[in-house]
Amino acid sequence: MASSAAIPDLDRLRPPGTKRSSKRDLIVNVFLKQEGHLSADDLVVLTKREDHRISRATVYRSLQWMEEAGIARKVDFGDGRFRFEHSYRHPRHFHLICKTCNRSYEFLSSDIEVLVEEVAVARAFTARQTVVQIYGSCDACTSGTAAEDPVNSELLFARDALRIAIATERSGMEFYGRGVKLVTDPRAREIFRKLATEEVQHLKTLEKRYQELLKQDARLESRPTFLFFKGAANGLFSAGTEQLRRNGVDDLEAYRIGIRCERGSHRFFKRYGEKFEDSEGKRIFLEFAGEEREHLELLIREYRLLVKKHRPQKAGKSRARSKPRRHSA
Ligand SMILES: [Zn+2]
Ligand SMILES: [Zn+2]
Repeated sequence: MASSAAIPDLDRLRPPGTKRSSKRDLIVNVFLKQEGHLSADDLVVLTKREDHRISRATVYRSLQWMEEAGIARKVDFGDGRFRFEHSYRHPRHFHLICKTCNRSYEFLSSDIEVLVEEVAVARAFTARQTVVQIYGSCDACTSGTAAEDPVNSELLFARDALRIAIATERSGMEFYGRGVKLVTDPRAREIFRKLATEEVQHLKTLEKRYQELLKQDARLESRPTFLFFKGAANGLFSAGTEQLRRNGVDDLEAYRIGIRCERGSHRFFKRYGEKFEDSEGKRIFLEFAGEEREHLELLIREYRLLVKKHRPQKAGKSRARSKPRRHSA
């Protein structure tokens, strides 16, 4: 499937001191129009369709140049020949490799990444690159249905990032909606109401963006999941909403639960957003992390105000307690 979004500015990517080559530009453009994983020979065939005079050696040299320039990434599926995929605005990912049809499918699991990181840290190992490849039979080969064309992973990534942000926003909306009914302090009620309203607004914006994205690919909704997040799938606030349902939750406790949720959400989106390579999915995560930070700061400010309001005498007492000790000394 062609993807115009993935075509970089070749002049900018060209290493300094190297001159323009129209043959190479043609090869690069052929390469960037493909999705999935190509062998050097696949690229020779595709290039010759455009211009039969371009030699195999030129294609090989161009591939090597693309790898050095960071446009192509070499992948080894263990069958004795390297394949190449775009690395420009192409999110990092793992592979499912079908031994029957030799197709490969991309996915990303942050749970796997976290585990790999934990192992590396525990063994004091400086990890440079993680390769996860799952070999077996794909759905098309097992069920005998027609295989799908390779899809643009960046689009799937943006779709899944938006889905996670939407799930979180929706769970945040439920959380603050419940909080409005629970808290008794008038100002706290206003704050919860304001945040509930904001979540509704954000949710609308995200859903609009989701609809925009769907226009880029008529079958985008039904394509397989790319981004796997075990913990975030139900929304990061759903545990907090459960906690609000417990008996005896007062205004201060409601704030504390809200602060924990917003902090968790902010860290989650920031941590992964920073790890992703430049992409729409990365932007969605980092924007969302920013919104969550604003909510977090607001809640912390309001929590402190409410603590002061509720316990003026207690603060006085602790000061009073330290003074007599000086007197008695
Ligand atoms: Zn297959
Ligand atoms: Zn790949």
